Amino acid sequence: MGKLRTERIGVMGGTFDPIHYGHLFAAEEARCRFKLDEVVFVPTGNPPHKEQGPNLPAESRFLMTVMATADNPNFRVSRIETDRVGISYTLDTLRELRAEYGKNTVMYFITGADAILEIMTWKEPEQILEECCIIAATRLGYDLARLEKALPPAERKRRKTDPRVIVMEIPALAISSTDIRERMAARRPIRYLVPESVVQLISKKGFYR
Ligand code: ATP
Ligand code: MG
Repeated sequence: MGKLRTERIGVMGGTFDPIHYGHLFAAEEARCRFKLDEVVFVPTGNPPHKEQGPNLPAESRFLMTVMATADNPNFRVSRIETDRVGISYTLDTLRELRAEYGKNTVMYFITGADAILEIMTWKEPEQILEECCIIAATRLGYDLARLEKALPPAERKRRKTDPRVIVMEIPALAISSTDIRERMAARRPIRYLVPESVVQLISKKGFYR
């Protein structure tokens, strides 16, 4: 039997250290607004140098992401970066997903507005925009001029006619993984910032202690 192919997919990359409702809401809102068939979460792998990397190993972050997304039939989690040794470049991941889904699939890479500024400066932005459109999730009132300035020349040229970087305003979600880790360290609550299943897993495994 042939592989089921979806037409429009969202790709939500992140460290997910841990995954929280900010990530999940951005993915669900993008799915709904852009009529995506599914959203693939791609947790980053283990960095080559452990010192400045994530707190938890790739396998643990993958597991939390699976738990957090299990109740949404339109969410799945990919092991692409979990299984890759060394640095993962967004472009390589997108090309791998492209190979998996086929050339007719429209891909939307979902990021927060701050993460997109990083992508635009560090990684081959033009090639990334050849593979996918980027949905930049922002809070209302975010300084959009900053984003516009960071766009590569080709995107600026087609901005008015055929934009590939699309801004999606979402309600202010001040949740961040950094804050959740700090809360864990200070023994302050994380419940209702993170799905209950993830809260339970963090507690059971003693993560972020
Ligand atoms: P950290 O605090 O460790 O940087 P984070 O909360 O930013 O973690 P990441 O895993 O780095 O989480 O983010 C993955 C993606 O989700 C990025 O594109 C990021 O911009 C986006 N993102 C993070 N937090 C939110 C949020 N509250 N609302 C919408 N998008 C978010
Ligand atoms: Mg971040």
